[in-house]
Amino acid sequence: MTAIRPEELLQQFASDNYAGICPAAASATEAANQGHVTSYGDDPWTERASNAFRELFETDCEVFFVFNGTAANSLALASLCQSYHGVICCDSAHVETDECGAPEFFSNGSKLLVAQHVDGKLTPEAIRELATKRQDIHFPKPRVVTITQSTETGRVYTVAELRAISQECKLHGLYMHMDGARFANACAALQCTPAELTWKSGVDVLCFGGTKNGMAVGEAVLFFNRSLAADFDYRCKQAGQLASKMRFLAAPWVGMLEGGAWLRNAAHANKSAKYFAERVAAIPGIRLATPVEANAAFLEAPEAVLTSLRERGWRFYTFIGGAARFMFSWDADIARIDALCRDLAECAALRS
Ligand SMILES: *Cc1c(COP(=O)(O)O)cnc(C)c1O
Repeated sequence: MTAIRPEELLQQFASDNYAGICPAAASATEAANQGHVTSYGDDPWTERASNAFRELFETDCEVFFVFNGTAANSLALASLCQSYHGVICCDSAHVETDECGAPEFFSNGSKLLVAQHVDGKLTPEAIRELATKRQDIHFPKPRVVTITQSTETGRVYTVAELRAISQECKLHGLYMHMDGARFANACAALQCTPAELTWKSGVDVLCFGGTKNGMAVGEAVLFFNRSLAADFDYRCKQAGQLASKMRFLAAPWVGMLEGGAWLRNAAHANKSAKYFAERVAAIPGIRLATPVEANAAFLEAPEAVLTSLRERGWRFYTFIGGAARFMFSWDADIARIDALCRDLAECAALRS
């Protein structure tokens, strides 16, 4: 094997999925790699992981494990919809902008009904407007609302906001789905229990992200409204999302949930984003585009400054949220954040 050059392995803040596997997930995978067990989810690791979710969420929910977030969201939404239904989301939602039409594909045509976001969030007013503006047979029938927690722009829905959305959903007979690719970050930010942020606030189905939380791969789909999970196993299988060696999708969750790493990882990521934001705020010419509430920071800076920063080897994306995005993961390293801040300050000074 040829070695990878060390500079290619330096920590970056372009995405929280640049990070590797956290120790809790790695050691659980290692522990699961012993002996033979039954395949396709009929094994002790899958049972233990499912029970860990039920304990964490303080309820007897239905639990499924899939490989990634696009599949989790798409299959969950498909299970809530008929092909003639509509899914209300906001224009910044991952399901709308970053899933290549998978929600429409897996639901055989359910249409995403897109509202303009307010601070990266869907509002009860927007839901009301989309749910009531057309009642005729020529328009897809609204059936589900999907929100992202924490949001694509690093904001969080408070419990009050979730309850207001849920109330609006109930008024219009809509199910509530939550894209929780960064659900752990929201729990850490709000210091609320997973139950408070989901079923106690009206969420019917949650896609809980493991990948960005520190696992190699894997998301869990939790149905709090258990009847909605009917035949979900078939849906997963048909979509190519049923792992035959399921223990290796499930075991990392055991490691993450039982010892609390899921929450520690998220809290560290959030704290790192705040640390970065505080230092950036002191740099003339650079501004935070949105408040930092979870593990993301979005910067507004002159294009020339961003170009210089890229020339110094830093990687980041500008196609999300209209600003330069920096994401912090479970292993965010303070020394690397300091190095980034120094380079940002130097680039800003040189260009002013
Ligand atoms: C990362 C992410 C997902 C999942 O993406 P996959 O690449 O399909 O795993 C879903 N929703 C949001 C908001 C995300 O950031």
